[in-house]
Amino acid sequence: FPEDSANPASEAAQVLHRVFGYDTFRGEQQEIIDTVVAGGDALVLMPTGGGKSLCYQIPALVRSGVGVVISPLIALMQDQVDALTALGVRAGFLNSTQDYEQRREVEQAFLSGELDLLYLAPERLRVEATTRLLDQGKISLFAIDEAHCVSQWGHDFRPDYLMLSELHERWPDVPRIALTATATEATHREIATRLNLTEAKHFVASFDRPNIQYRIVSKDSPQRQLLDLLRTEHAGDAGIVYCLSRNSVEKTATFLTQNGIEAVPYHAGLDSRIRAKNQSRFLREDGLVVVATIAFGMGIDKPDVRFVAHLDLPKSVEGYYQETGRAGRDGLPSTAWLAYGLQDVVQQRKMIDTSEGDAAHRRRLGTHLDAMLALCETVQCRRTQLLAYFGQSGEVCGNCDTCMTPPESWDGTIPAQKLLSTVYRLQHERNQKFGAGQVIDILLGKTTEKVKQFRHEDLTVFGIGTELKDTEWRGVIRQLLAQRLLTVEGDYGTLLLTDDSTEVLSRRREVMMRREPERVGRSSRSSS
Ligand code: ADP
Ligand code: ZN
Repeated sequence: FPEDSANPASEAAQVLHRVFGYDTFRGEQQEIIDTVVAGGDALVLMPTGGGKSLCYQIPALVRSGVGVVISPLIALMQDQVDALTALGVRAGFLNSTQDYEQRREVEQAFLSGELDLLYLAPERLRVEATTRLLDQGKISLFAIDEAHCVSQWGHDFRPDYLMLSELHERWPDVPRIALTATATEATHREIATRLNLTEAKHFVASFDRPNIQYRIVSKDSPQRQLLDLLRTEHAGDAGIVYCLSRNSVEKTATFLTQNGIEAVPYHAGLDSRIRAKNQSRFLREDGLVVVATIAFGMGIDKPDVRFVAHLDLPKSVEGYYQETGRAGRDGLPSTAWLAYGLQDVVQQRKMIDTSEGDAAHRRRLGTHLDAMLALCETVQCRRTQLLAYFGQSGEVCGNCDTCMTPPESWDGTIPAQKLLSTVYRLQHERNQKFGAGQVIDILLGKTTEKVKQFRHEDLTVFGIGTELKDTEWRGVIRQLLAQRLLTVEGDYGTLLLTDDSTEVLSRRREVMMRREPERVGRSSRSSS
């Protein structure tokens, strides 16, 4: 890049100090800022709380013209602009929530060079009037926030992001900086390709969040388990509880409130005023719990979120990482807690099977789910597994459930064979498919109505699995699913063999399993 005679580094440092009140740059902020100030493109992968905003805000203040920030977070634009205005930065936004007058005012400010930063929802760029407007002003840079939204492979695809590839064609001299807090190596590459960032410098920070303690427990009565966690470890703390459905969001919020924990719901089905109110209460009050669907949280900058709890299995490791990443932005110890059970897998498979989109799309969702399952069932350090998913290596952490209470692993080859051969016999001798419940009843030799109805007592496998309890068999099924030795499909969560199942059935493959520690995490804490 051309050397800037004004010495960008020191000017950037001055802005850091004068406008934002900070003494030093964090991590790679300085190198990133220097790159953009000098007119180069940058692709920034940095975890939540790493300080991405300054990476485009400071160059926008140092370079002449207006920094245009593309962001999907319409609900937060007002807050972002207010925060900048409070620092004396001239900022505005254009999105669909504004009326004609409000838009005109911002457009005028942009044209007369009275703005430092302009936040833009991506769909605005579809409107010809917006691109014409941008043509008439002076743009210092384009910042593409939440850049993973351009990835069809990722978990948060937004079609409008695909248009951002045209920014470079239309404004070839304007530097671009793309930022995201979540990207596997595949997503990382896809961002670079789709945004035409061929010349960009890549900055990849460590994705480790050492202050977050990762814990994944097996679900039995999730609300009680959650209450237990909040009472024993997070009394009076602010936190986020994620649920899959709006219904369970409502129920869980009510349950917590009834049990003396102040909690508010947040989901897309709520009236927008109530949503906004609950969000701002969460941001401003101390110790409030938000129970939410994943509609909540992107871009939420609350430093003291002490825990993120998932009552349902996230759809992907990327989603899990991003959601848990909202805990502990202030660097203080925080908990990422997930309760998951076999029913989660059944439910998610069903959602995948019935989802819109082609077979390739469904396969992709299936791959995401498998990776999430593998994380849940690992006997190794959760953190190293998580980092490995993002292509990074790390030391065994000592601050996750598997490190603190190493799960025993046991040779589960025989139970695996028993279970798989039950599924095999149902499928091949009877041409039937059943879910986990029936398969386990058969293994345990239970003469239920349904067993009698289908004459399952006549199967040679009937009653061959009494050495394990019902819950243990569920654990076996979960682990077989996680190891892709079994799969589940359809409304009833019927179990099916996979190509790899035969290796176990024919005794060519051993299956190591994880034994669930009784109380993951908590026991080791209270004893320390
Ligand atoms: P991200 O967008 O990566 O999640 P933010 O840009 O919101 O992170 O920054 C997270 C927090 O860290 C913010 O409160 C921000 O003001 C603060 N921060 C960022 N850079 C610095 C710095 N160099 N020194 C001190 N605090 C910083
Ligand atoms: Zn660990």
